[in-house]
Amino acid sequence: MSEIRKHYFLDEYCIIASGRSKRPSAPKACAEESSSASCVFCNGHESQTPAATAVYKKGQILKDTDGERITDWDVRCIPNLYPALSPDAPDAGHMVFEVKRGYGFHEVIIENPLHQSRLHLFSDEQVLLLMKACRDRVMHYQSQEGIKYVSLFKNWGKKAGASLEHTHSQLIAIPLMPSSVVKEKKAMAELESCPYCKIVERERGTERQVYENRHFILIAPYYSRTPYEMWMLPRQHVNHLSAFNDDMLLSLGDCIRKAVYLLDRTIPELAYNYMFFQVEHDLSYHFNVRIAPVTSIAAGFEKNTEIYINSVPPETAVEHLLEKEL
Ligand SMILES: [Zn+2]
Ligand SMILES: [Zn+2]
Repeated sequence: MSEIRKHYFLDEYCIIASGRSKRPSAPKACAEESSSASCVFCNGHESQTPAATAVYKKGQILKDTDGERITDWDVRCIPNLYPALSPDAPDAGHMVFEVKRGYGFHEVIIENPLHQSRLHLFSDEQVLLLMKACRDRVMHYQSQEGIKYVSLFKNWGKKAGASLEHTHSQLIAIPLMPSSVVKEKKAMAELESCPYCKIVERERGTERQVYENRHFILIAPYYSRTPYEMWMLPRQHVNHLSAFNDDMLLSLGDCIRKAVYLLDRTIPELAYNYMFFQVEHDLSYHFNVRIAPVTSIAAGFEKNTEIYINSVPPETAVEHLLEKEL
């Protein structure tokens, strides 16, 4: 049971999802010592999860049926057992303040059948398949009636909000455009040209560039809110995953893999979140992925002002990240 509640007077929303309190507070399905025995995301444990909405197996895209579960898959997409939103959410009814029913979709993309697998060690083939699955699932939910935005993200590590250890991404499809995106689009509309294209042009080859490949550039942004924050930007202007061909998907996957590899090498086991920013049907938007390592928690000042205090300048962060490569 969830509701989308609007701020008293701003275009900002929160999801009140009371059912999620059933979610275990400590990782129960995956034991602390990295055990696959009780992990519901592991290959062979498919019956312990809801039926998969998409199963990528040996070049095919299949679906579980109610009674039968497909095993020995490469990537598996399942509905979240404790969804923040649901397609059959009841009417929210009337309240003094503005409320919408908690309509939407919440899916988990299990990136690899092996419990110990780590994204930074994926092969080219594996990152490409994962990016393909991400593109397909985003496009699938983007086309559902009433869906305005699909949030795709990965939480890695308990401190970053991951309740299960097995490597996975998540997707939440919502019936509104987040106010942060609306605000950003409005600011972009007032500029003469795409600011992200300019960032690519200006940051390329500077002390804030971390890596580049055929289609992407990885930078520690000049405006880094947290230590080791990184942005991945396509070098050519493109608005949405749906416009990516396989070669671009591979570049994106390679860039993400590189970012998490460098993070893990610099600070082993560091928790992080990465998020996809994209707007379908708005060609003026510039797709990007931002990775935010969790090195501290937002405290009073940040919550009061939304101004972040970052103790590691991005230029220094890049030095640390590339230290062993020089
Ligand atoms: Zn597992
Ligand atoms: Zn652009």
